[in-house]
Amino acid sequence: MIALEEAQAKVNRELQVLPPADVPIAESLGLTLAETVIAPEAIPPFANTAMDGFAVRAADTVGASEQSPVSLPVVGTIAAGTTAARPLKPGEAMRIMTGAPVPDGADAIIMVELTKPNGFEVDIMAEVPVGNHVRPAGDDIAAGSEILHPGTVMAPGHLGVLASVGRQTVTVFRRPRVGVMSTGDELVEGPEPLEPGQIRDSNRVTLLALVREAGFQPVDLGLIRDDEAELEAAFRRGVATCDAVITSGGVSMGDYDYVKAVLTRLGDFSWMQVAIKPAKPFVFGLLDEVPVFGLPGNPVSSMVSFELFARPGLKRMMGHLEAERPRIRARTTEPLRRHPDGKTHFSRVVASKVGDEWQVRSSGGQGSHQLMAMATANALAIVPDGDGVDEGELVDVMYLG
Ligand code: AMP
Ligand code: MG
Repeated sequence: MIALEEAQAKVNRELQVLPPADVPIAESLGLTLAETVIAPEAIPPFANTAMDGFAVRAADTVGASEQSPVSLPVVGTIAAGTTAARPLKPGEAMRIMTGAPVPDGADAIIMVELTKPNGFEVDIMAEVPVGNHVRPAGDDIAAGSEILHPGTVMAPGHLGVLASVGRQTVTVFRRPRVGVMSTGDELVEGPEPLEPGQIRDSNRVTLLALVREAGFQPVDLGLIRDDEAELEAAFRRGVATCDAVITSGGVSMGDYDYVKAVLTRLGDFSWMQVAIKPAKPFVFGLLDEVPVFGLPGNPVSSMVSFELFARPGLKRMMGHLEAERPRIRARTTEPLRRHPDGKTHFSRVVASKVGDEWQVRSSGGQGSHQLMAMATANALAIVPDGDGVDEGELVDVMYLG
């Protein structure tokens, strides 16, 4: 057996970040930035008002109060999207709406709530300082400043920042196309009653969903028989059209575990026995330069193997700097029992925050075929080799969310 870290390092050594591409900004959500974005223009582009009210000179409001308001003639109205017809002169006021440019000559805004209409004049009922409610040009983003850096994972606000400075496209690392196939003669799809010995293919729909959830582009490569020629053809089809291929099944010690045999014959593949439970057997390598992840067939094993090898590896391929799931320390509310076997166990648990502390309990049956407990888990407790973790002890947890 080899250590988990060694197996992960083997995978990461082979993976290359996909080439960057220009995409419309709306399509960059979740992708990793491959350029430094420099603001071509300032935001806001001009000094504007943060309030509906009146543009004035602060000096003209000195001493104004509710009891002794200052009356100023209203010489114009400025709506958002327009500009003042002329500069403001001393002793004047202009009506102004949120987002409208502050007219030349004005240096403060008084909000409408602190004024009262008075014929052609407005009564100013408070004294305001210079700059009151004025949003200066460049207050958010200065023209020429570096605003986004390579490695940024594009979130909705980043898209808004790009739009605000007039960008139409952005250079990001491409979303990998990830092909998923199931292998096994016992597997069937569709609603027909099962024949003796048959089971339904559940891994493919699960892995395709994990691929989609992680932000990769899923490609269904179908259900493949335990037949060397069919497997070889399927792998070749997969690597011809995808950036990575994920298979499940056929990598253990059984007589019909041909995935391992075919891959190691076709290319430079490593068959590993990783010191973890579940998901001990794992095959990885490049076929025509395309990474192929051979995950074990048991439903829980395939998901855990995806989490430990495929997800972080593929995240790196799309330029993510933080490719790992978050790790937390959590207190067990019941013992997480196991026996010494030289392996690290990834127990399916439910993690919840109680006050300041994370707590975990088992989510159910821990067999690698018991998909229910994996489905209801939101975390994997990392139980080191030994007899397990007692109730009330702290354990490292991989949070799946
Ligand atoms: P294998 O790794 O091919 O020996 O498969 C290990 C176990 O996982 C066997 O019990 C298989 O029937 C089961 N299995 C393999 N592939 C799938 C799948 N796609 N969906 C559900 N169970 C599977
Ligand atoms: Mg099989």
